[in-house]
Amino acid sequence: MKAARLFAPGNIRLVDAPRPVPGPGEALVRVIAYAPYGTDVSTYLNKGGRYVASYPVGIGADFSGVVEETGDGVHSVRPGQRVSALALDHCGTCAHCIDGRTNLCLDPAYRTLTRQTCCEEYVLVPERKLAVLPGAVGFEDAAMLAGPVDALNAFRKLGLDAGDTVAIVGVGAMGLGALAMARALDITAIAIGGTGKRGELARKVGAEEVFGLSAHGEDVSQAVLERHPAGFAAVMETTASDWGTALAFAVAGLGGRIALTGGGPLGVSNWDIVDRELTIFGVRAGSGQAEVLDLIARKRLSLGETVSRRFAIDQVADAFALLAGPDARDIGRVIIRIGDEA
Ligand SMILES: [Zn+2]
Repeated sequence: MKAARLFAPGNIRLVDAPRPVPGPGEALVRVIAYAPYGTDVSTYLNKGGRYVASYPVGIGADFSGVVEETGDGVHSVRPGQRVSALALDHCGTCAHCIDGRTNLCLDPAYRTLTRQTCCEEYVLVPERKLAVLPGAVGFEDAAMLAGPVDALNAFRKLGLDAGDTVAIVGVGAMGLGALAMARALDITAIAIGGTGKRGELARKVGAEEVFGLSAHGEDVSQAVLERHPAGFAAVMETTASDWGTALAFAVAGLGGRIALTGGGPLGVSNWDIVDRELTIFGVRAGSGQAEVLDLIARKRLSLGETVSRRFAIDQVADAFALLAGPDARDIGRVIIRIGDEA
């Protein structure tokens, strides 16, 4: 089978790999669509040397496909079913898993991130990670669930209901997914970020207002606070960058709530937090995949508008060169079509 492998930072190409065989509890999934997001680009470049320990290595996490074959003991999916997979694995039997909080599985074996790969024609996935797609959900939408799933988790923690307002910091893959999710839940979203045409996309997926940047890393907090002097009661940071973290804290209002999805040191003092009575939430992916799929099926949530380019698996090097290059600022999501739908 065709499989994309990284051989060095910025060096990705297809190899001919053996088609895997599902073991007990596993399904072999024929991949149809793969949507790279920020973490994949960081992996491609091995940013800071933190993403890849040894080469060659596969890539990709957010995908959809069709079950080709199942191993022993698999009961919840069967060959021919259309599926997508959660990024995080979980035990399925601990108190948190039973409670539906699979992203906070208590089993230490699942606390470290085992990276899924999917930029290949067939992948093995533990049965418990798979969600069967409702008939009305297309393969491309189902390959872009990470952003909306994270956003759903963040919005719940931020206590947001229909009619509330949230500031979304970052308009990359996760930011656009969060904006689309806000629209689906009738939450007003203000987008902050983007140096190129991403601002237009942010508006297209429902941002009421967009504060773009004239240069990467620009501090636009003053411009935001001029328009919103009291700051925001709820902020979701989607970039996991120092820039985004600083901005999220700068635009949060008194008593504000901030959802973080990653990043390094906070760069604020305890007094900064205490004086403004800020509440900070960590968002470790999420477990709301079924709810997100239901919103897509009911046409409340649409992710298709965020797609700017499509590539075939044979063009994987071109796709990643685009995503890691200067033109990425002008595009939304990229879909790599791995297999045919039929
Ligand atoms: Zn568990």
